[in-house]
Amino acid sequence: HKYVYDFAEGNKDLKDLLGGKGANLAEMTNLGLPVPPGFTITTEACKAYLATGQEPDGLAGQIAARLEALEREMGRRLGDPDDPLLVSVRSGAKFSMPGMMETVLNVGLNDRSVVGLSAQAGGNDRFAWDSYRRLIQMFGKTVCDVPGEEFEHALDEAKRAKGTTDDLGLDADDLRGLVDAYKKIFAKHTGREFPQEPREQLDLAIRAVFESWNAERAVVYRRQERIPADLGTAVNVVAMVFGNLGPDSGTGVAFTRDPSSGAQGIYGDYLANAQGEDVVAGIRNTVPLQELERIDKTSYDELLSYMARLEEHYKDLCDIEFTIERGKLWMLQTRVGKRTAAAAFVIAGQLVDEGLIDLDEALHRVNGAQLAQLMFPRFRLDHEFEPVAKGVGASPGAASGKAVFSSDRAVELAGQGESVILVRRETNPDDLNGMIAAKGILTSRGGKTSHAAVVARGMGKTCVSGADELDVNVPQRRFTVAGRTVNEGDVISVDGTTGKVYLGEVPVMPSEVVQYFEGTLDPERTDDPLVRAVHRIMTHADQRRRLAVRTNADTAEDAARARRFGAGGIGLCRTEHMFLGDRRELVERLILARTDDEREAALGALLPLQRADFVEIFRAMDGLPVTVRLIDPPLHEFLPPLEQLAVDVAVAQERGEDVAKEEALLAAVRRMHEENPMLGLRGVRLGLVIPGLFAMQVRAITEAAVAVVREGGSACPEIMVPLVGAVQELETVRTEAEKIIAEVVGDSGVEVLIGTMIEVPRAALTAGQIAEAAEFFSFGTNDLTQMGWGFSRDDVEAAFFWRYLELGIFGISPFESIDTEGVGRLVRIAAEEGRAARPGLKLGVCGEHGGDPDSVHFFHSVGLDYVSCSPFRVPVARLEAGRAAV
Ligand code: ADP
Ligand code: MG
Ligand code: MG
Repeated sequence: HKYVYDFAEGNKDLKDLLGGKGANLAEMTNLGLPVPPGFTITTEACKAYLATGQEPDGLAGQIAARLEALEREMGRRLGDPDDPLLVSVRSGAKFSMPGMMETVLNVGLNDRSVVGLSAQAGGNDRFAWDSYRRLIQMFGKTVCDVPGEEFEHALDEAKRAKGTTDDLGLDADDLRGLVDAYKKIFAKHTGREFPQEPREQLDLAIRAVFESWNAERAVVYRRQERIPADLGTAVNVVAMVFGNLGPDSGTGVAFTRDPSSGAQGIYGDYLANAQGEDVVAGIRNTVPLQELERIDKTSYDELLSYMARLEEHYKDLCDIEFTIERGKLWMLQTRVGKRTAAAAFVIAGQLVDEGLIDLDEALHRVNGAQLAQLMFPRFRLDHEFEPVAKGVGASPGAASGKAVFSSDRAVELAGQGESVILVRRETNPDDLNGMIAAKGILTSRGGKTSHAAVVARGMGKTCVSGADELDVNVPQRRFTVAGRTVNEGDVISVDGTTGKVYLGEVPVMPSEVVQYFEGTLDPERTDDPLVRAVHRIMTHADQRRRLAVRTNADTAEDAARARRFGAGGIGLCRTEHMFLGDRRELVERLILARTDDEREAALGALLPLQRADFVEIFRAMDGLPVTVRLIDPPLHEFLPPLEQLAVDVAVAQERGEDVAKEEALLAAVRRMHEENPMLGLRGVRLGLVIPGLFAMQVRAITEAAVAVVREGGSACPEIMVPLVGAVQELETVRTEAEKIIAEVVGDSGVEVLIGTMIEVPRAALTAGQIAEAAEFFSFGTNDLTQMGWGFSRDDVEAAFFWRYLELGIFGISPFESIDTEGVGRLVRIAAEEGRAARPGLKLGVCGEHGGDPDSVHFFHSVGLDYVSCSPFRVPVARLEAGRAAV
């Protein structure tokens, strides 16, 4: 079994085996770019190690062989006391997980080779001891779990003693002293001396990278990002190059386009005389990459040529890590770079213009989650809000909330329903839970490539980084800026697009993209590149998609908005709200009716009210289909709760008031009480048990449609019966409905379809029969999921889903994204058998899943005709339906 690949043996398509980093290092090597030599240990080796707790057979030998080849190539031996080869040991999974996994630099240094390293660098003692202290620090922290703060304290202490705040203020002797301090810390925590044997260092580091796959924060990140838990990570062993050799050395990060806006140009950060992790950690303030032109023009030009080359090769935005060692440029990493949602659209549009990709490919380069983000509101800044600070707009959006200064506090307050902004000097992987809980993130240090920025962008969370006017005091839970103090709990607002920070809560307005969808911003006239790109890609998605997109809308207002957003009809109009408000009293009368006359009077009073509601909805959806669901919830939901009513009656009796009506109501509520209302008297069962109820609704719908047609409009009602499990239920309702429809429609030309929801598993399994009585099916995937799994949505999500997610029973809540294997199978069966019984049967879906990107792809693959979702999700569903079709 081959577990180890030389960089020259891999390529970019081997990400499963070599991880993203390894595959791309191989690709760059084969493109002839200057990558330090090295090799990759496969994810297979990692999986084998994680399964058994032991390196698989043959791995050690293969590593030894590759290492020997590397030593030959470099003309140096690992950890040689006189002229040592040093290596980095770098994790790299298939999907990049910034900051999640661990990397150890300078492996091979020990008390003897540190002297050899100094000689190698022309007697640069400072450099050698700095490298050694970094090794002990990284190795201690990541391989042996020594608390990182201890090293940081020792470093701070050394700087304090020296009277400096900059790492560069420490000289060789200071660093040698620091190495001693670090070794003591190491020994204290691990009970052993820092390992001096280079190969042992290497093996322990490799093992630690394997194990870091299961580190808690890696697990959390994967769950958040929906990355499968069983991929494992590869390990890259790379010959070290040194950016910390002096002012003619340095390290940096570059993007081939602006990952925040998508604009073309040179973007990145550079830090002279430093090793790689200094840039990412945001420990020192970097300079913009453009400055490198002044510092080292040769390397700068060379870098730019590689950037162009990589972009051309990958046909996409690339990000790059590089190091300059005494004027020689080395490429240490590249990948198709993460970007904001806006940049994704803008770049996809640009690449089409540049002829690098076509519009179908552009559809693959964006997604519905990104579009959803672009529909977030913006701050409205037309009056009196002056920013108190400006940092880097690291991840767009507008967020207001209470300032908090620790991850734990963020989680705690967010759990109480508060909006919070997590404020830190810089973030590190331990802040992940707080970042997830927060509405926004604000840091006083670090650039666009800091941990906070990268992770926030990945999560689509608003982030301002590097707002260095802020003096953040975490222990005291406050920051000061421009002479003002913001304490924990004070409300602040951060704009992740402009980087501006405001005190207090800034009001918000719709984003440009929403203005475009609303029709108030003309895509042909604007010079906003984002709106133009969105328009272009949406237009293409609409041309490509086979699924129609409808909306769930209960009111004319929602219907009108959804229509502006591109909805092709209503897939679910719930009628429950038509029984609420002042109409509640009529519902009470209906329930309490003792005679047919009383009941008919109550229904008669409801009829014109509902008809008027439907008229408005049909007008808003003129010409488009409108699926109206007959009343679904149990009727007692319209009555006061039992306990409250019982107390009211008792109190009134005590006062000697006449409580005959209340007592009757109380008796009715008692009578109608259900242990398990979700499975009780609701949906079609109501229609069959309460005479005249469905008939009234059918009449209201049909009369409204006729009225709209008579005024010159066009109405296409589709009456949908909920909760059907047997064809007999539907047939009974249908027979009654058809009579009413025939009577009302007359010569108006109105056509009314009658169909059913498929939301009870039995309905899905007998769909062939049910189709005989249904002109359409609409999958109610919320109920189908509840009943398919047998768990109540209102109860289980908070109760135990976290555990199920933890155990990997499912990777995402089945209420969020359809469970394609189980519940989805019911959909598939019903679609196939329904269509077999009635060719041309219309099929749609109206659960929350209709607006979920993955679910939309599934519904496309099953061959449904449409999805229906909330108005704001309509553009997302349109885009995803287009993506599913290409
Ligand atoms: P991450 O995945 O967190 O970016 P990396 O493996 O890329 O971790 O390494 C962390 C830092 O160390 C990066 O800045 C990288 O460029 C630098 N680095 C890694 N290997 C080497 C090497 N062989 N020589 C010099 N710097 C390196
Ligand atoms: Mg990296
Ligand atoms: Mg339902």
